[in-house]
Amino acid sequence: MRVVVVGGVAGGMSAAARLRRRDEGAEIVVLERSKYVSFANCGLPYYVGGEIEDPAKLLLHTPHTLKAALNLDVRINSEVTAINPSAHSVQVANTETREVYTLTYDHLILSPGALASRPPIDGLDSPRVHTLRTVDDALALREASGTRAVVLGAGFIGIEATEALAHRGFETHLVEYAEHVLPPLEVEMATLVTRELRGLGVCVHAGVAAQTITHGDDHDSVTLSDGTVLTADVIVLSTGVRPDTVFAEAAGIETSRGYILVDEHGRTSVDDVYAVGDAAVGRDHDGPVALAGPANRGGRLVADAIADAEDSEAAARPIPSPQGTAIVRIGSLTAAMTGANRQALDASGAEYFTVHTHANQHAGYFPGTKPVHILMHVGADGQILGAQAVGADGVDRRIDVIATAMRAGLSATDLIDLDLAYAPPYGQAKDPVNQTGMVAHNVATGELVLTGPDALTEATPILDVRTPGEYAAGHMPNSLNIPHTQLRDRLDEVRTWVETNVGDQPFVVMCAAGVRSWIGYRIVRHAGFNVTMLSGGIQTLRAWLGDRAEAVLVTGEG
Ligand code: FAD
Repeated sequence: MRVVVVGGVAGGMSAAARLRRRDEGAEIVVLERSKYVSFANCGLPYYVGGEIEDPAKLLLHTPHTLKAALNLDVRINSEVTAINPSAHSVQVANTETREVYTLTYDHLILSPGALASRPPIDGLDSPRVHTLRTVDDALALREASGTRAVVLGAGFIGIEATEALAHRGFETHLVEYAEHVLPPLEVEMATLVTRELRGLGVCVHAGVAAQTITHGDDHDSVTLSDGTVLTADVIVLSTGVRPDTVFAEAAGIETSRGYILVDEHGRTSVDDVYAVGDAAVGRDHDGPVALAGPANRGGRLVADAIADAEDSEAAARPIPSPQGTAIVRIGSLTAAMTGANRQALDASGAEYFTVHTHANQHAGYFPGTKPVHILMHVGADGQILGAQAVGADGVDRRIDVIATAMRAGLSATDLIDLDLAYAPPYGQAKDPVNQTGMVAHNVATGELVLTGPDALTEATPILDVRTPGEYAAGHMPNSLNIPHTQLRDRLDEVRTWVETNVGDQPFVVMCAAGVRSWIGYRIVRHAGFNVTMLSGGIQTLRAWLGDRAEAVLVTGEG
């Protein structure tokens, strides 16, 4: 059996290595267009920033080491330019010698990955414009000189490039067409990222597009849709990716928006041709996911599908739908997410509610604790639909726990019962994940009715149960301030306020993070008032408002 693999990095090399472990007798040929195989794409930004000093560390293997360890025939500088499904063959062009030859296969695995998308910006052909996809891209970006950088696109790679360039001392501008950086995050989480970027000295331009790059002798100028003109010695284009699949489409392999359509075993529409990684999307999946984990694990499962096809007794495990679990560092902050976000849920018409918590990463009495800001979307049936977390510490663990719970089909309420490791330096006896489950459970049972920050207007009546000092530092305009510890004794004031200011509509109880307002909410609800609670308190509200917070919130005792 000869198996030909197109693309020798994440998905392709995982498939090749697994196949060898399953089948010592197979002939396995890996064709890779670039001059590197099995390189660490995810490590490239850290080489650009200087944290990884030696570029050789990014090269995990060579054709020679792969031959020695796994008996793989790895051919670099080898581009597959055409597939002939009926002849079971591919056409291969050597990118250095231009020699062209034909290679037959019994099974063909496509893992060609993605290319940087190139939006219609005039002047994008400037030599100062870089992408960050390959080892050569990273080498060039590391060598780029100057003092002023403009990064176009604030997705995961754009954020990593920004951090790297700011770390190297570039005056860095980050331009994002969406309303906020890291568009997959909800705005109330992304605001925390924007704050951190500003703390690193990065100038963030959100909600604007780069329109023109004017080439100059000494520098380029980037003109934005709001009229701003940025001076740039280095420009990084990171506005998204598109699948690198022209050669597969030309062979009649079924695609959707360029992504190769595959079934649960990675099989394409053409016999004996499989696809995996950034270039593939499951027929039954919501959309493509360009992440290393799904590519690596998918490659392994495609190899199993091929090996099992040879051995009819075994049944290959299907490739699960990716959850899109992702994480990124921004200075001293970490942002992570799993599952669906608000945009995807709204587009699908799902019924859901959202909870926000700001629990401490570890016991408050132990030095150095910081909050883990968690947001979780919960379906009407209690299913966890998606979660996001931002914080200085412990974000990775919380998102991974929730991602695992989602994969296992646990409900939001089940999070309460997770028996998670705890000692004061590491967590809380009621872990932030447990606490998020508790809030979701309170909502699901109807004990708690939440109002999201999106539903507040300046006229919304608010019972603010923080201390007078916190209240004076910023509150909603139509508020009554009674600290939660005094509420039971001051219910008459609440009654008078409702009669004169609120009427029949519900009022919203709020505090800083949602803990004291939960107590206050129960007190006034028990007293018979028509009431809801602000999800996540003013911490969530401030983040939701972003730069508008100072204009909306009132300071002083009011
Ligand atoms: P790739 O790993 O990109 O491999 C595709 C290979 O196919 C390429 O080397 C290409 O040269 C070759 N090829 C293409 N066409 C042909 C052809 N016709 N003939 C021969 N060879 C061909 N993901 C994460 O989960 N976490 C991260 O932190 C992260 N960071 C990233 C940082 C950067 C800078 C980049 C670029 C990506 C990052 N990713 C990250 C994404 C992750 O690297 C990809 O999702 C993953 O590598 C996809 O695997 P793949 O096999 O589909 O494609």
